[in-house]
Amino acid sequence: MSEKDGVHFTGRCLCGAVKMEAVADPLWVAHCHCPSCRKMTGAAFATYAGFDKSAVQFTGEVKRFRSSPGVNRHFCPTCGAAISFEGEAWPGELHMHAGFIDQADKLVPDSHVYVRTELKWAHLDDGLERHETFPSEEH
Ligand SMILES: [Zn+2]
Ligand SMILES: [Zn+2]
Repeated sequence: MSEKDGVHFTGRCLCGAVKMEAVADPLWVAHCHCPSCRKMTGAAFATYAGFDKSAVQFTGEVKRFRSSPGVNRHFCPTCGAAISFEGEAWPGELHMHAGFIDQADKLVPDSHVYVRTELKWAHLDDGLERHETFPSEEH
C-alpha cells in the first residue's frame, strides 16, 4: 500500500502542507451525522477513521479549534482542510477525516453515529449499524 515499511495509511491536506503517516490500521470507521461535523466539513456528514493516536504521525502545522468542551478539531491553517478530531471521551484515539486519507477507498465503514440529526435527504441504505447518538451514550 505504501512505499515505506510499516506505513498502512498516509494522509495529505488539500494544499499538501500537512501530511500524515499511520503505522496501523484504523480501530473503526464510522459516519457521523452530528451538526458540528457538518459545520466543520461543509458536507452532509463526516466519515472518520479512528486510529490509535500513537500510530499516527503528522508533518506540517496543524491548527486546533475547541468546538465543545473536551473536543478539539484539527485543520490545515493554509487550505482549511479538515484533518482530525480528538475528544476526551475517546482517550488515546485520533479520528481522521476519511477525505484526508490518501487510501480512503481502502477504509471499511462499520456504522453511522448521531443519526438523530441525520439530514432527511441523505439516503444511506448501506445496511450498517445505526446509533441515535454515540454508541457509548446509549448504554
Ligand atoms: Zn493544507
Ligand atoms: Zn460528529
